[in-house]
Amino acid sequence: MARIIDGKELAARTRIQIRAEVAAFVASHGRAPGLEVVLVGDDPASVVYTRNKEKAALEVGIRGVLHRLPADTTEPALLELLRRLNDDPAVDGILVQLPLPKTIDASRVIDATSPAKDVDGFHPVNAGLLAVGREALVPCTPRGCMALLDDHLASVGAPTDLAGKHAVVVGRSNIVGKPMAQLLLARSATVTIAHSRTKELPALCREADILVAAVGRAELVRGDWLKPGAVVLDVGINRRADGSLCGDVDTESAERIASAITPVPGGVGPMTIAMLLSNTVRAARARLETR
Ligand code: NDP
Repeated sequence: MARIIDGKELAARTRIQIRAEVAAFVASHGRAPGLEVVLVGDDPASVVYTRNKEKAALEVGIRGVLHRLPADTTEPALLELLRRLNDDPAVDGILVQLPLPKTIDASRVIDATSPAKDVDGFHPVNAGLLAVGREALVPCTPRGCMALLDDHLASVGAPTDLAGKHAVVVGRSNIVGKPMAQLLLARSATVTIAHSRTKELPALCREADILVAAVGRAELVRGDWLKPGAVVLDVGINRRADGSLCGDVDTESAERIASAITPVPGGVGPMTIAMLLSNTVRAARARLETR
């Protein structure tokens, strides 16, 4: 049976480390790192996500502020708020919760966030820096996946160098799939990105030593899609017909073939928030400590 890669446990350890980094930052700069989370509208899932982000920030000593704007907020009004936050020296991280109402162009909002404060790592400048292998703010979910993979490899005594390994990333979004592929490539894995137009997906997945599923289709990837001994990172968050949560991987059949797998819930999700906190401290340090 596969080893279960416990994201809750790693996230708890990561938060302890971040709390120490925040305390060191406060000692050096006389203020806490500041994270501003902006929510437009009242989409129930987004309300929960943004509250969790604010709460997680406060718990490690980051000054978390949640801006709740009405659903009819105009694009110019949102861009004006972003200009103000970009200019505020006490603000280190800015995150605008997606999806935005249809009346607002998400690309314009992402472009209007200062790359130095873009703790989601979605700004094209950060995406470009990641692609050319330079220091960047990296999207939280793929960063969390890499931390889970590294922790797993270390705990089973396997080399963390991925040279010679084939990684298949299913999903090519700017938020998860593409940056995930970049991070694996930067670690010398041989990377294939698959998507909805890929042919023979099960056969392709069977070639993967590392399989990342970031699709958004409940239990799409089954055990017989896996190479025996593969490490599986399941990013998906879906609901079954009965309302229960599941990932993009059918855990029951996958557990019998994989050597390790992240559960849903309790795998990638908790690490995503931990990496947001980490990115906030990184952004704060980069602005204040590299002058
Ligand atoms: P997107 O919808 O933006 O992207 C999904 C990707 O999957 C697309 O590239 C799409 O291909 C591909 N795809 C869709 N159907 C298939 C299929 N049948 N076979 C192969 N590929 C397919 O989603 P995100 O990347 O934003 O998120 C993916 C999942 O991860 C979702 O379940 C989301 O909820 C979850 N998520 C979880 C997070 C966490 O913290 N755990 C954080 C972020 C996301 P194409 O490009 O061709 O359309």
